[in-house]
Amino acid sequence: MSASEAVVHVGFLPSAGMGHLNPCLRLAAVFLRHGCKVTLITPKPTVSMAESDLITRFCSSFPHQVTQVDFNPVPLDPTTVSTNIDPFYLQFQTIRHSIHLLLPILSSLATPLSAFIYNVSLISAVVSISDKLFCPSYIYFTSSARMLSFIACVSVLADSDPAAQPHPSRFIGDAVQVPGFTSPIPRSSVPQAFLLEGSNSFQRMIMEDSRNLTKLDGVLINSFEELEGEALAALNEGKVVRGLPPVYGIGPLMACEFENVDEGQKNGMSWILEWLDEQAEGSVVYVSLGSRTETRREQIKDTALGLIECGYSFLWVVKLKRVDREEDEGLKDVLGSELMGKVKERGVVVKEYVDQMKILGHPAVGGFVSHGGWNSITETLSEGVPILTWPQYGDQKMTSEAIKMSGVGIWAEEWGWGTQKVVEGKEIAKKIKEMMTNESLRVKAGEMKEAARKACGVGGSCELIIKRLIEEWKRNAQVN
Ligand code: UDP
Repeated sequence: MSASEAVVHVGFLPSAGMGHLNPCLRLAAVFLRHGCKVTLITPKPTVSMAESDLITRFCSSFPHQVTQVDFNPVPLDPTTVSTNIDPFYLQFQTIRHSIHLLLPILSSLATPLSAFIYNVSLISAVVSISDKLFCPSYIYFTSSARMLSFIACVSVLADSDPAAQPHPSRFIGDAVQVPGFTSPIPRSSVPQAFLLEGSNSFQRMIMEDSRNLTKLDGVLINSFEELEGEALAALNEGKVVRGLPPVYGIGPLMACEFENVDEGQKNGMSWILEWLDEQAEGSVVYVSLGSRTETRREQIKDTALGLIECGYSFLWVVKLKRVDREEDEGLKDVLGSELMGKVKERGVVVKEYVDQMKILGHPAVGGFVSHGGWNSITETLSEGVPILTWPQYGDQKMTSEAIKMSGVGIWAEEWGWGTQKVVEGKEIAKKIKEMMTNESLRVKAGEMKEAARKACGVGGSCELIIKRLIEEWKRNAQVN
C-alpha cells in the first residue's frame, strides 16, 4: 500500500468536564473530515450527564469511522481524598493514577494507532508509558497559548532558583516575564491554587507536567495566529523554553453537527431561541460562567440587580449545582419570588445546560458576560460577539489577559477572582453598558470573527496543519 492510501487511525483520550470534552470531540471531527478513523477512549463513568450525552451523540454521528472503547479507572482511596474536592479535578487525578490500564486497551485495538491525542490534564501520566505506545503522542491543550507558556516556564523558574525545591509562591515573584512576550504575567493572574502555601496536588501536577512538556511529540492548541500570534511564535521559536515540541495552533475549534441536541430533549432550548428571535439585533446580554462553576449564592442578588439596571435584555444561566447529576433546586427558591419577578420583566433566566453555540450565533446576542473559560472565549470570537470576562478561578485571568490584549473584549480586573468578593449590582451594570456600547470592541470582534473563520475554513491554518500531520503519520506507517 502506498503512503497516500494508508488509513490514518487516531486515538483520543479526553478527561473530565465539557470544557475538556468539547474541544476533544471537535478536534476528532476535524480528523474525521479528513478521512481518518478515530478511536475514542472514554473514561467511565463520566462526571456529568452532559458529557455522556455528548459522547453518545458523537459516536452515533460517525458509526463507521468511530470506535468507542470504555476506560474504567480505579477510584481513588476515599480516605485520601478531600471531601470538597472539585469532582472534575478528582476525575483528572483518578485517570492519572489508572493510566497503566490504558496499555492493554491500546494493544487490543484491531488496527494500530497512527497517533494518540490526549487531554492536557494527563501529561505526566501518559508520558510515563509513552515508549510503549508505539506511535507519536500529542496533547490537546484546552487553554490559551499564554497559559501554555506559563506552564512551560515554571519548571525553568524553579530550577533557576538557587534554593533547592523552591515553592511557587517564591519563584513566581511579582510577575513572570515569559521570554518573547511583550507583557509579563502578573502574580495576581496566576491560578490561586498554584500559589497556596504548603504543597498541594495541583502544584505538583503543574510542576511535573511542566518538566514533561519537552517529551511530547507536539501540542495541539485551540488558538490561532490573529488571536495569540506573539505567544504561538514565542513557543515555536524556542524563546519560551528550549526543546519544546511543535505547538500547532489548530483553533478555533468550531461546534459540529453532533452537538445539536434533538428537539425532544432540548432542555427548553427551543423556547429560548424563540425568545431570542423576538429581540432586536445585538440587544441581548448572554451571561454564563461555564459548565463547572456553580453560581455563588451570595453573588446572585447583585448579579440580578446589575442585569436589571444595565437596561439591556438578558439571558442569564444560573448554575445551581456543580454537577448536573446532583439534586435539583428551584430558581425561585434561590432568587426569591420578588427578584425573580423583576428579572423576568427584563430577561430570561435558566438553570439548565444550554446550547451555548446556538446562543452565541444568534443575531440578537450583542455581548457575553463570561468567566473566561477558553472554549467560551474562542466560541464567542468565532461569532464576533464582544465579551466581558469575570474570572472565577484557574487559568481564567490569563485567558482574560489574552482577550484584553486582542481588543475583542474587556476584563473586569478590579473584581478580582469571582470568589473573592461580592461585586455590587451597579458595578456590574456599568461594565455591561461599557461592553455593549463600545464601538471599537464591536469592530474588533467583527474582524476577529473573520480571522477565526479564515483560520478554520478551507485552506486555513487548521486545515494546513491537520493535512501536514496526516501526511507525516502516513510516512511513519510506511517506515515502520
Ligand atoms: N457549555 C454549553 N452550555 C452551558 C455551559 C457550557 O454549551 O450551559 C459549553 C461551552 O460552549 C464550552 C464548554 O461548555 O464549549 C465550557 O468550556 P469553557 O472552557 O468555556 O469553561 P468550563 O466550563 O470548562 O469552565
